[in-house]
Formats: sequence, C-alpha cells, structure tokens
Amino acid sequence: MKLIEGAPIAEVVYRECETSFAELKAAGHLPGLAVVLVGDDPASKAYVGSKDRKCRELGLHSVKIEKPADISQGDLLAVIDELNADEAIHGILVQMPLPRHLDEEEVIRRIDPAKDVDGLHPVNLGKLAMDDPTGFAPCTPSGCQRMLLESGIETEGKHVVIVGRSLLVGKSLALLLMGKGKGANATVTVAHSRTKDLPSLTRQADILVAAIGIPHFIGPDHLKEGAVVIDVGINRIDDPASKSGSRLVGDVDFEAVKDKCEAITPVPGGVGRMTIAMLMANTIRACRLKVGL
Ligand code: NAD
Repeated sequence: MKLIEGAPIAEVVYRECETSFAELKAAGHLPGLAVVLVGDDPASKAYVGSKDRKCRELGLHSVKIEKPADISQGDLLAVIDELNADEAIHGILVQMPLPRHLDEEEVIRRIDPAKDVDGLHPVNLGKLAMDDPTGFAPCTPSGCQRMLLESGIETEGKHVVIVGRSLLVGKSLALLLMGKGKGANATVTVAHSRTKDLPSLTRQADILVAAIGIPHFIGPDHLKEGAVVIDVGINRIDDPASKSGSRLVGDVDFEAVKDKCEAITPVPGGVGRMTIAMLMANTIRACRLKVGL
C-alpha cells in the first residue's frame, strides 16, 4: 500500500507559487487575498488563521476581515462590494458556513468571478463544466486531482466513484475528473445518500473518493482489491486516550481498508493539506490574469 501524503505534494504547489510570485513581484505586482470571517466559530477561525499565515509566509498581501455573527445581509454584501473594487485584492474568500440568517448563495454570487478564488461562483462552475481553463476550480477538488497527478495515478479511462454530491467537493470533483486533459478523462459515477446498494457500486471503482462527512463510513466491503482511495472527510470524534479528548478521522476506516488498497490518503495529513495550497495557487493566478502576465 502506498500512502499518498498531502504535505510533500502541497510543497510542490508552494514552490510553483513562489516562482510565480517572484515573477509578479519583479513586474511590480503583489497578489492579495481577502478572507472574510463572520462570527466566531472556532473551526472557521482556525481555517482563516491558517490561510492568513500561509499568505504571509509566501509574501502575499493578506487581509482578514472579521464581522460579528449578527451582521446583516446588506452589510455583508457591502463588504464584498468594497473588496471587488479594491485594486490590491485579487482573491476573495468568504469562510463558510455563514450564520443561518445569511444567504450564502447571494454572497457567493456577489463576488467578482475574476476574484472568486474559491471557485464557487456560477461563472466559474460554468467554466469548469465547459473545460474552460480561464476559470477557478474549487480548491479541495483541485487538490484531490493534483494528488492523483503527482502520485502518478492514471485517471484516463479509469472508473472513479465519488461518494458525496456537494458543490464544494463531490460534484465539482466529478466535473474535473471527467473533463479533458491531464489528470482527467475518467469515467465518473457520483453516489449520494439516496444511492441504492452503495457497496456494490463502490466495489466497481478503480479510484474511490469519499466526501461524505461520516467518520469511518467506508470499510473493506466498499472496495475492490487494489483500488486507490482518496479520503476527503474531516471528522472530529471523541478519543479519551488523546490529550484533547478528541481526534480527526476521515470518512474511510483507514486501518480496516489499508491492506486492500493500492494507495490511500491519510486523515489528517492528506487532502486537507492541499486545500490551502490550491487557494494560494488560485490567488496568484487571479493576479496574473488581472495584470496579463
Ligand atoms: P456535505 O454534507 O455537503 O455533503 C455530504 C455528501 O455525502 C452529500 O452529497 C450526501 O448525499 C452524501 N452522503 C451522506 N450520507 C450518505 C450515505 N449514507 N451514503 C452515501 N452518500 C451519503 O459535505 P461536504 O462539504 O461535501 O464535505 C464532505 C466531507 O469532506 C466532510 O467530512 C468535510 O469536513 C470534508 N471536507 C474536507 C475538506 C478538506 O479540505 N479536506 C474540504 C471540504 C470538506
């Protein structure tokens, strides 16, 4: 079994970012990312903190905008409008989920598609569906594709079964992998909560992607011998043996399936490492596209 770790692959992406960043800087341009955080959910705060840290490490201009949980929809849209107009900002990310009284879709639609480095604006999702490389693909699915590419796992002609149909992960990854070009050309099946007899479907997969949000959901009965497994899930479970009383696990029961797989991503230390790397790459590309470099 080969372990597909996220850190070394994320490093490859960061080295590319550094080269691209240096070229931009030499031409007098500084890529800028703005991350908007509404409320004080600890997990969201931690994600925003790591995005801000990574921007600073790479030398990007980073703006963190924190707003109270009771901000009105109108005030939040005004924040987006300001960022859309800000010449120093090339990428805008609004940390999801937003408090329930806010309309996430309207917020995403308000972001200038040229600054939508999270790739969730309808224009960018449309470009993804059309194989148009001028758009931005969502970061986690792009990270999964990059992991397959960098690990030398052929996708062309392979049957990929993705469990989970969210726009953020499953549906977007399906579009990426069924597209044309390197790291794509796969035959993709998307399964979800209403799929009947899931194990008989997932056992047909050469590559199985789990994006479900249920700890240890995928076990050996879901896999054929020699399958490649990409575990997108990040779930916190109780663990009295750990210092904090909890730990992170994936949607795949790693210990139970590892001997049956050809390759597998761990949790933590797998796909999660790629998401921020792809966000940095998208922000730098947004800046290049803006300045025509
Ligand atoms: P989501 O809740 O939006 O979607 C979950 C999907 O799983 C749904 O499409 C649902 O139909 C499907 N599903 C639920 N129960 C099922 C069942 N019994 N059988 C088959 N399908 C079932 O979640 P999401 O945003 O797509 O996230 C999925 C997981 O990935 C979560 O654990 C999340 O934390 C993780 N995640 C990780 C990253 C990362 O950076 N690694 C990024 C985003 C999400």
